[in-house]
Amino acid sequence: MSRVLIIGAGGVSSVTVKKCARLPALFDEIYLASRTLSKCQALQDEVGSDRLKAVYSVDADNADAVTALINEVKPDLVVNLALPYQDLPIMDACLATKTDYLDTANYEPKDVAKFEYSWQWAYQQRFQEAGIMALLGSGFDPGVTNVYTAYAAKHYFDEIHYLDIVDCNGGDHGQAFATNFNPEINIREITQRGRFWENGEWKETEPLSVREDLDYQNIGTRASYLMFHEELESLVKHFPSLKRARFWMTFGDAYLNHLKVLEGIGMTSIEPIEFQGQQVVPLEFLKAVLPNPGSLAEGYTGMTCIGTYITGIKDGKEKTIFIYNNCDHAVCNEEVGAQAVSYTTGVPAMIGAALMLNNTWKKPGVWNMEQFDPDPFMAMLNEHGLPWHVLECEQSPFSK
Ligand code: NDP
Repeated sequence: MSRVLIIGAGGVSSVTVKKCARLPALFDEIYLASRTLSKCQALQDEVGSDRLKAVYSVDADNADAVTALINEVKPDLVVNLALPYQDLPIMDACLATKTDYLDTANYEPKDVAKFEYSWQWAYQQRFQEAGIMALLGSGFDPGVTNVYTAYAAKHYFDEIHYLDIVDCNGGDHGQAFATNFNPEINIREITQRGRFWENGEWKETEPLSVREDLDYQNIGTRASYLMFHEELESLVKHFPSLKRARFWMTFGDAYLNHLKVLEGIGMTSIEPIEFQGQQVVPLEFLKAVLPNPGSLAEGYTGMTCIGTYITGIKDGKEKTIFIYNNCDHAVCNEEVGAQAVSYTTGVPAMIGAALMLNNTWKKPGVWNMEQFDPDPFMAMLNEHGLPWHVLECEQSPFSK
């Protein structure tokens, strides 16, 4: 019998809960906890208490509170779909209770917009000694993009040299400005300096200053901007043959103009200010006035295309392939009442959890997605709504 405790009840969690609920053979009992109990209850009303057994309110910043909850629920696995700030307290609670752990985004401290794996990789020995496992970054990017890379390295190349991960949202939600996942985390990520790996070192660029116009399958040409993204850090570590690794994301002019104005007037700052006798973080206030990403699904048209270009050597010859998925916002809405960005994150979280619970991906320690056999994960993507395709490219689409 398997029992999973999901923490967080936002856009991504609602997809994971619904997908897990439809798979009783893999997830016997599902439990849900988050900061706001009413959001958990609303999800329980939707999926039914026969599948979502019980809901709880918890402050996941507090490791003792999460430990008490785990002791009450006694899950086999905790799936963290709250925010990156909660990764470490939830991992501490998993250590205290000897429970397996999974998340979709790496830890970042609330007061520094800096995300890297060092904090979570530091748990490796303690997780190994406790005989428990942590699977880091089981979303789409990170997550599926790591598995695509491992799959390409296993089946298509003798050695991989160049990696370009591309993330295009070709959808239209009809809002002047909105983010597709938690606005605070999203804006912290986008406003950072760009960073990529080349010839054994990290190179930095001004935020969103490097652009390529790339043609995306079933979408068309979109302006794509070089950014740092967390999977680059683990992929260059685990595939040392990589000479260069970059990440690109598409943004429309309207989005960038709004972002520029918001940055220019200080609304994206994470430094608290004094306002009417209270300490207010401008970015947290901005999150409160922006549309909730979970609410964008209705009327959202178009699709995403997220994938991985890989160039390497096979049988002495250089070649490039592109592995990608297209995901249609309206189809996701029809299936689970979510937009494609929540869907493309929530489904891989369910798949990672399933592979841990059925012992397919199982070893004590703290692991990134590319450290496991990609084949079972790739098979489940096809079965559970995120089919992928492999294109053999005549040449890399990047100008430099
Ligand atoms: P949301 O903001 O919609 O949901 C976050 C949930 O976590 C909310 O229910 C929130 O509660 C809850 N939460 C926040 N703080 C706490 C706390 N201290 N204790 C308990 N619960 C808390 O975010 P998303 O669903 O869009 O994103 C979820 C995660 O997925 C994020 O970590 C994000 O970075 C990651 N992500 C990963 C992607 C990938 O491809 N790997 C892509 C997109 C997202 P409340 O409702 O009270 O605010």
